[in-house]
Amino acid sequence: MEGWWERSRAVMPGGVSSPVRAFYGVGGTPFRVVRGQGADLYAADGRAYLDYVMSYGPLILGHAHPSVVAAITHQAALGTSYGAPTALETEMAELLVGAYPGMEMVRLVNSGTEATMSALRVARAVTGRKRIIKFIGSYHGHHDSLLVRAGSGAATMGVPDSAGVPSEMTALTVTLPYNDREALGAVFRDLGREVAAVIVEPVAGNMGTVLPQAGFLEDLRRLTQAAGSLLIFDEVMTGFRVAWAGAAGYYGIQPDLVTLAKVIGAGMPVGAYGGKRKYMQLVAPLGPVYQAGTLSGNPLAMAGGLAQLKAIGGPDFYPPLADTVAGLAQGLVERGRRHGVAVAANWVGGMMALFFADRPPTTFAEVEATDRERYRKYFHGMLAAGIFVPPSAFETLFVSAAHGAEAVERTLKAADSVFARI
Ligand SMILES: *Cc1c(COP(=O)(O)O)cnc(C)c1O
Repeated sequence: MEGWWERSRAVMPGGVSSPVRAFYGVGGTPFRVVRGQGADLYAADGRAYLDYVMSYGPLILGHAHPSVVAAITHQAALGTSYGAPTALETEMAELLVGAYPGMEMVRLVNSGTEATMSALRVARAVTGRKRIIKFIGSYHGHHDSLLVRAGSGAATMGVPDSAGVPSEMTALTVTLPYNDREALGAVFRDLGREVAAVIVEPVAGNMGTVLPQAGFLEDLRRLTQAAGSLLIFDEVMTGFRVAWAGAAGYYGIQPDLVTLAKVIGAGMPVGAYGGKRKYMQLVAPLGPVYQAGTLSGNPLAMAGGLAQLKAIGGPDFYPPLADTVAGLAQGLVERGRRHGVAVAANWVGGMMALFFADRPPTTFAEVEATDRERYRKYFHGMLAAGIFVPPSAFETLFVSAAHGAEAVERTLKAADSVFARI
């Protein structure tokens, strides 16, 4: 692959299939991956990286987990897609319904974007209302009505709103600051009866990791219920990542609809939306809400995802993972302080974010105010030491079950010498 990056950039926008991979948030040239194994990525130039990106969330057991590989390989030999039902879909749906609070029926799709787009359609059909509320810095996929003041890749690109989205497409989307209970209460007082749904990341993961502050999710539940609006938890990132029962189970708040993806697919393209039977019965062919997909419920994705979920096994998987994350987060903060570098962290379950700031941020504005130049130096320092942390201050760091004590030790040691230099 002589000059592969130049070749890529000549034929693909930015040389990539998804913007954050181009490293615009931190500068530099991305490495080319040839293989992943456990917690490690192997690049074409022979270097190995301890991976804390983990495909941006799906790989909670690490790369190429043996049971995931075996399940996909087995299924591939039986065919890759049928356009007819399989028992794998039933099994996946039963597992999701069994694990997730308030999930009675589910539709399988191909991505998180499709899941949130479809859940909004259901909410509008249920309520007969048009307006939706989302939070600034949250990312729910790249469809028109939600690409408003989005976080993550969109934030790093410095294009919070996308070109090519007519203002008519976003006119019905109300944006509010995350964790702002006052603003939320005010909007519901004024517009409550027009709101079809509030869509929220119950733990915000696309502005780094930002935790819901006390009362925020409770207010969301109470206000939506009182106004006859639906509460949609976008658990594409947090589902099976924060806990077996997602953030809904972790915080004890039951949404009306939920969207899932990432971990449920083990790195295969997948998504799902579901919730109460009375809502999901509106989805075609049962009801009038149209939504379809040639590859939806794809047997390879179902086989890989099911294998991963079965290997996770249930709620007991999460406390040790959370301990690893807490140890890593606290260790990084401690190493930073040791060198007089102001760092703070937010973490929950298998996700965390490190911020160059005095205090852990609780809003997107606070994340934007963190020292991104320092983050850039930290990223490149860690990369040079063979550790791949998120290539943007707006992305969450993911830990897998393959990240052991030795990996964390190695990370803290590298961070110590990086902090000493910034
Ligand atoms: C990743 C993500 C999405 C989009 O999922 P894709 O599979 O990339 O379309 C939606 N919502 C949240 C919270 C996400 O983290």
